[in-house]
Amino acid sequence: MTILSLRDLLVHFRTEDGVVKAVDGLSFDLRRRTTLGIVGESGSGKSVATMAILGLHDRTTTTVGGRILFEGTDLAQASERTMHQYRGKRISMIFQDPLTALSPYYTIGDQIVETYRRHTGASRKRARARAIEMLGKVGIPQPQRRADDYPHQFSGGMRQRAMIAIALCCDPDLLIADEPTTALDVTVQAQILDLLRDLQQEFNTAIILITHDMGVVAQMADEVLVMYAGRGIERGGAHEVLRQPRHPYSWGLLSSIPHLGGDVEHPLTPVRGTPPSLIDVPPGCPFHPRCDYVTRVDGARCETERPQLVSERSAACHLADTAADRIFGDEIRPK
Ligand code: SF4
Ligand code: MG
Repeated sequence: MTILSLRDLLVHFRTEDGVVKAVDGLSFDLRRRTTLGIVGESGSGKSVATMAILGLHDRTTTTVGGRILFEGTDLAQASERTMHQYRGKRISMIFQDPLTALSPYYTIGDQIVETYRRHTGASRKRARARAIEMLGKVGIPQPQRRADDYPHQFSGGMRQRAMIAIALCCDPDLLIADEPTTALDVTVQAQILDLLRDLQQEFNTAIILITHDMGVVAQMADEVLVMYAGRGIERGGAHEVLRQPRHPYSWGLLSSIPHLGGDVEHPLTPVRGTPPSLIDVPPGCPFHPRCDYVTRVDGARCETERPQLVSERSAACHLADTAADRIFGDEIRPK
């Protein structure tokens, strides 16, 4: 059932200023045909973690540790040659801005043809038929004709549809979608998310959806992992995490979606302050300089002891861990 398991993933970059601990001990499991939403502010390590899954990090400056088990094969230590066999075929990716991933010099159709032939060795004719079929599946009208358009002749939403066509043309087992709708207006965003959900059913694809937007998670995800400072700080079923978030940081993130506010049984106050430097991550709980609860638990513990995610449904917070029964009580809510 599990297609991908991360175990204590570390991604550290060497820079002139010191070692950036972009991902520092990340573990999760992803089941086949399900969607995991990875949520966090920018700089929380969510994109870096997925680049490491694809082996797209700079090997000269980056250390990757831990395990990335994709159907039992550890991709953390795989050679570039091995990764070549996975990328685009078994695991593919779509980004926030399709223009950076699409070549301006080739037609949309040729870009699908090229990807499909590279991974399957299909004939040009067969690949062209696949390109048109895929453009139809992603909702491009008149795919036969539009296949010969260049990216600049497509709208932003259509370009993202074309990217999805490229990403799914080889029928991958895993699709990584990094902020796929952030650059689009709200109506188009909803259409693209609908499309992804429909195609997930049709292609039996597992999806890792990276977003800073809990609203997108609410629409798409089966499971949620909230990241902060390169670590997972809360995880669980999407419904549970959205309704009963247990980590003070998650409460803050949820405050950004007012329509869920009525459902959530927590005080929703936005998170104050800014994320920490990943060269100098605070000791103990990395969230403690921003946390309104730090003095209400055992302050010293928050500042010295790193809380861990201990189960499939848990929050890395000493408060959730030692005072689960009080967590929803008035005594520890911020005034
Ligand atoms: Fe706040 Fe302490 Fe929980 Fe960290 S461990 S989130 S500082 S209460
Ligand atoms: Mg990112």
